[in-house]
Amino acid sequence: MNELKGKRALVTGASRGIGLAIARKLSDHGVSVALAARNTKQIELHVRELRKSGAKALAIECDVSQFHDMEQAVNTAVYEWGSLDILVNNAGTIEPIAPLTQGDANAWAQAIDVNVKGVYFGMRAVLPLMEAQHSGVVVNLSSGAANSALEGWSHYCSSKAAVKKLTECAHKELAGAGVRIVGFSPGTVATDMMATIKSSGINPVSQLDWSTHIPPEWAAEAVAFLCCDEAKEFDGTDFSIKTDEGRRRVGLPV
Ligand code: NAP
Repeated sequence: MNELKGKRALVTGASRGIGLAIARKLSDHGVSVALAARNTKQIELHVRELRKSGAKALAIECDVSQFHDMEQAVNTAVYEWGSLDILVNNAGTIEPIAPLTQGDANAWAQAIDVNVKGVYFGMRAVLPLMEAQHSGVVVNLSSGAANSALEGWSHYCSSKAAVKKLTECAHKELAGAGVRIVGFSPGTVATDMMATIKSSGINPVSQLDWSTHIPPEWAAEAVAFLCCDEAKEFDGTDFSIKTDEGRRRVGLPV
């Protein structure tokens, strides 16, 4: 993955879980990383750790459900580093887990704001720049939920289906300009989100044994792979490491 060295990336939802693992992995590969999230204390702490090991890192406070915040995050990274080569739209929420007949309507809508609008806002903020420079990669965090229906997850399943379609549309519009957009479905990952799912007890995913979940570092390795040219064949699709074939491509254990 030598080609990643010297690249500049913005990762949303980088205060913990998969986003933090992605930021660390990209940094390991020599990428300058901007960590964006709402919890500034956390991202500043992670940035200090990364800088101690000689990495170039930035902490940017950002609520992805606000277009102004996403625009500012992109502008800050570009101001610091001259441009951006990679955007990982990772921020997402599983809450509120609730049956359709009982859930809080405003909280349901807020999940759509984060999971769907957040991804659109990220692409809207960065794609004009990538189109102008004829290069760049956007990775959108998807989920198996994009293709299935699960009890209590109406917001999550519909939002991830929308993200999948956003990836396809963006790929159709920008592949000709040399800009790559790819979705990524990691399978089940041992993070705070998965702990929330487990404690809900509401559908079969919540019943899975914790040992079946992959570590966030595996998801991060896959995202680093997707940022490289050798992953170009997956552009416009939802690449998955749920399958042995997907894991083999990344070099993960099967
Ligand atoms: P997590 O542990 O709950 O972390 C979520 C991250 O998103 C946090 O850094 C959080 O930071 C950030 N975030 C939430 N709302 C935000 C907002 N409005 N603006 C900016 N950042 C926001 O979740 P995870 O498991 O790492 O999941 C990361 C992504 O992978 C999500 O898109 C999720 O849907 C997807 N995914 C996860 C799994 C899984 O099994 N865990 C499976 C498939 C897909 P702040 O709270 O500091 O803002």
